[in-house]
Amino acid sequence: MPDIALWNKCDNKCVMCTNMGSFALQDSSQYRLKCQIEKLERYLKGLGKVYLKNADDSGYVNLTGGEPTLHPEFFQLLAYFRRRMPGTPITLLSNGRRFADRKFAARFVAAARPPFSVAIALHGPTARVHDAVAGVRGAFGQTVKGLENLLELGRGLHLEIRIILHKKNITQFPATLEFLLKKFPRTGNYSVTAIHYEIEGMSETNHRSVGLKFSVSSKKVNEALPLIKRFADFRLYHFPLCQVRAELRPFCRITLPLEDRIYPAACLRCAVKKKCLGLMLEYYKKFGSSELKPLKK
Ligand code: SF4
Repeated sequence: MPDIALWNKCDNKCVMCTNMGSFALQDSSQYRLKCQIEKLERYLKGLGKVYLKNADDSGYVNLTGGEPTLHPEFFQLLAYFRRRMPGTPITLLSNGRRFADRKFAARFVAAARPPFSVAIALHGPTARVHDAVAGVRGAFGQTVKGLENLLELGRGLHLEIRIILHKKNITQFPATLEFLLKKFPRTGNYSVTAIHYEIEGMSETNHRSVGLKFSVSSKKVNEALPLIKRFADFRLYHFPLCQVRAELRPFCRITLPLEDRIYPAACLRCAVKKKCLGLMLEYYKKFGSSELKPLKK
């Protein structure tokens, strides 16, 4: 099932956003309830290519944006998607800020009937780090309050905290994990995913300030192993297996479609190619493949 862009406006201005700046400038009427219903009904009937991303993947739906929770008909849309796809896992990708409003969070938890996940991005351990990435003063406080509310109210809802790693926050990765362990010590109640950023949209435009090579990100991630082991459910996205220490390889997942990845020449000599993502195609175009080290087992 596809990534569905629920709404094109956002109240953050993240430096590594995978959308182009022009996305938010589009006329929002194409994202209103009526159009979303028309699109999903066409998709469910197999009437042509309705969605662009992950359209051929089956078994799940990602609701993305912009910031989906800002949609003026957000709750009607949630109810509609849930009703039309009763057994399909749905993941809502959000900056989490609207969940700082406890009434909004409670209404969401009631509407998000399982199987339902919410994935919220946290950019650092302090307002200084997080807000500099999000581009909005006060974003950190609201996102953390949103996480708090969902953890308190959302029994049955799967909460995932996403840490997207790039040049602006990589040095803060261990401190971000320490912050989570201190603030939300019951790690069985949520999962954590560390993601090497994708080169697309604003992250490409802002390459000078966010560009990050695996040789740098992997060093920090490798050093953080003792902290990572303290979380009940931890995952790594977009990391080639040869870039992380052996103990971290079981945490790596392949989440990108084959057309967005590449196995350069080094991978052809590698014993773990079948279990490995290879390199993100845009990463390969920007940085090449000289960091890869084929593994023997
Ligand atoms: S050499 Fe290629 S296939 Fe092997 S671990 Fe590295 S990226 Fe993966």
